[in-house]
Amino acid sequence: MQTLTMKFGGTSVGSPEAISGVVNIVNEAVTQGNRVIVVVSAMSGVTDALIGSVREAAAGNRWGYLSTSQKLKDRHYEVINLLTVPGKNRSDVLAEIDALLTQHVELCSAVNILGEATARISDSIVAFGERLSSRIVAAVMRHAGLNARAYDAGEFLITDDRFGSATPNWGETERRIRDGLLPVLEQGVIPVLTGFIGSTADGHITTLGRGGSDYSGAIFAANADSDELIIWTDVDGVMTTDPRIDRRARVLPNISYTEVGELAFYGAKVLHPKTVQPILNKGIPMRVRNTFNPTHQGTLISDVAAPTDTVIKAVTSVRNVSLVTVHGKGMIGVPGIAGRTFLATAKAGANILMISQASSEQNFCFVVLNDVVDKAVKAIEDELVKELARQDVDGVDALTKVSVVTVVGAGMRGTPGVAGRVFTAMGNERINVIAIAQGASECSISFVVDEANLERAVLTLHDLALESVPVA
Ligand code: ADP
Ligand code: ASP
Ligand code: MG
Repeated sequence: MQTLTMKFGGTSVGSPEAISGVVNIVNEAVTQGNRVIVVVSAMSGVTDALIGSVREAAAGNRWGYLSTSQKLKDRHYEVINLLTVPGKNRSDVLAEIDALLTQHVELCSAVNILGEATARISDSIVAFGERLSSRIVAAVMRHAGLNARAYDAGEFLITDDRFGSATPNWGETERRIRDGLLPVLEQGVIPVLTGFIGSTADGHITTLGRGGSDYSGAIFAANADSDELIIWTDVDGVMTTDPRIDRRARVLPNISYTEVGELAFYGAKVLHPKTVQPILNKGIPMRVRNTFNPTHQGTLISDVAAPTDTVIKAVTSVRNVSLVTVHGKGMIGVPGIAGRTFLATAKAGANILMISQASSEQNFCFVVLNDVVDKAVKAIEDELVKELARQDVDGVDALTKVSVVTVVGAGMRGTPGVAGRVFTAMGNERINVIAIAQGASECSISFVVDEANLERAVLTLHDLALESVPVA
């Protein structure tokens, strides 16, 4: 008997029809003799609506959050009323929805009175999306004859208290899953867990960051020793590029953990960047599949990294970033400037996407998201105040309106000329490359271009990926 962990994304649970599809998929896996752990996202759009309700509450817009709560109630009621019959199962779950949304209004009212939202209360509010969806999915499964039970993941997934972007406490999480979740699974129950959320050891709800349900799926798959993690989403698998940028995008039949990690880190929304982390060491295979096209086998993600003809397997991009440059002739040979710069950037809460240094040592540059760039530059200037006064460092500049383009593919290490091909293609298109970096795993090359050139750069490089990926 195999244990499968199945994570269903927002669109996959976003409508009554979609939820019926989810129930069919789980039912089929159970009929084939598998044990199934289900992890669900909030219904599509619900997390955004909840974030909106926090803002409305903080701004004193009581009517705004009350109406958001009412809309959420209508949407979740609709699923239950359409997909279950009158009776105890239905009335119990409707009562649960009522109770959760009453709490939602209470928490928003607290924010309204205070006039501001702490990160802790925001997480509690944003978490209602998954808490609601897990209840309705479990109820619809029970109606279909499956022995499903909804759980708040915080019972098992214990994290630190970095609200909004919490990190799991691995030891405690493993213990709780082993002692609390596995016995339930052995009794033949299908747990339907909330993705995206965890809890501090003292019981405060945390969230793992936007798109974090994939990560939750991997955490449960790893700690429940699953034979496979399946990420069910709204496309057929991991594709050669974002199908919304290029409709010619094709599904990659397989890709390695490292490759998909790079893709996700550099903007491919299909997976949360941390998803591979928990399953990597255990070698648990992962598949990305389409809830709306369940006969398609999707993309298999494992430790096999088979190079393709052109080496380039996929192209991805990140918008809304800035390139920060620290420059000065006096920097040559002064140790520690880069280290202190990166530390100051980290302390300002800015994640660095890529780093590049010219060999002259007269400058180095790195990329951060636009919304943290001002804070980062200020923190660096404060840190390097003496060097700036002595003019060892001439300045810290930020170039906004740029984007990062990344090509991913195993085999870049051993294949000469890949970078040449990439930059020749950019040259032919007259796209100026502002800075370049190669990923540490040597299966990606990233570079910075002007925002205006982004789409053209992706389309041009995507041609190279398409050359080596067969039409499915
Ligand atoms: P879910 O709600 O299931 O988690 P997401 O919207 O988070 O789904 O991720 C799926 C979306 O990711 C797809 O609809 C697609 O538009 C986008 N996407 C971006 N890059 C890629 C890629 N390389 N392969 C597949 N999908 C991608
Ligand atoms: N519901 C959360 C979000 O929208 C988590 C997820 O869907 O993965 O970010
Ligand atoms: Mg997602």
